Amino acid sequence: MTQLLSFDDVHLYYDHVYALKGVSLAVNEGETVALIGANGAGKSSILRAITGLRKIRSGQISFDGRRLDGMASDDIVRAGISMVPEGRRVFPLMSVRDNLLMGAFTRSSKGEIQQSLDMVLTRFPRLKERYSQAAGTMSGGEQQMLVIGRALMARPRLLLLDEPSLGVAPKLVQDIARSIVAINRDDKVSVLLVEQNSRMALRISQRAYALTIGSIALSGDSADMLNDDRVKKLYLGGE
Ligand code: ATP
Repeated sequence: MTQLLSFDDVHLYYDHVYALKGVSLAVNEGETVALIGANGAGKSSILRAITGLRKIRSGQISFDGRRLDGMASDDIVRAGISMVPEGRRVFPLMSVRDNLLMGAFTRSSKGEIQQSLDMVLTRFPRLKERYSQAAGTMSGGEQQMLVIGRALMARPRLLLLDEPSLGVAPKLVQDIARSIVAINRDDKVSVLLVEQNSRMALRISQRAYALTIGSIALSGDSADMLNDDRVKKLYLGGE
């Protein structure tokens, strides 16, 4: 298996807050990997470190053999990593179509951009139905689909998703989960999925890491983790 992302012994601070205390993880080519853990455990900090939004104190982050830490955020997108941040920031007055096209800012070939647009509309038929509608008038779940679609317009090899189910109605959470599976399996995009909905994340990923206050506490195959008593107690609400 080819390692796509390697995140090695990373330490990260916010002033005096020690948010990542030597975290190591990997995403292999073709995998969906889940990152679970309570509020404030450091999940978003891992994504911010990968995308260059936050500088790391020490450690090393590499993607496809290239060193990422120290690289500018635009270059990280060009290298093949797109992030969907928490909180669904769409351009509310712009149409669905124009929001999607904004995601293609690193690309120039009109034909290829059109291909990506077709792919995104196949993955998210609801966006097709609402193609000319102002993005701000859609439901929370639909806006979440739009920001995932927009990230795909950069044609990433690795998609980083921060809490895609947060504030989304349960029925749409299922649709979004199915789309993530298809993006990974059919479109061959590797995925690093941050979720507080640990059960959903473990169901749709192949491997997972569980984070507790800045350190990886447990990791393994997602199917095994779903049945692990410690995971059940700490991350799945004790069921
Ligand atoms: P959440 O689900 O709430 O986003 P998380 O697991 O993603 O949680 P992080 O956002 O990575 O957690 O935060 C890790 C730690 O760093 C927390 O203690 C948090 O309070 C702290 N932290 C995050 N951002 C900042 C910031 N900008 N300034 C200071 N401390 C921060």
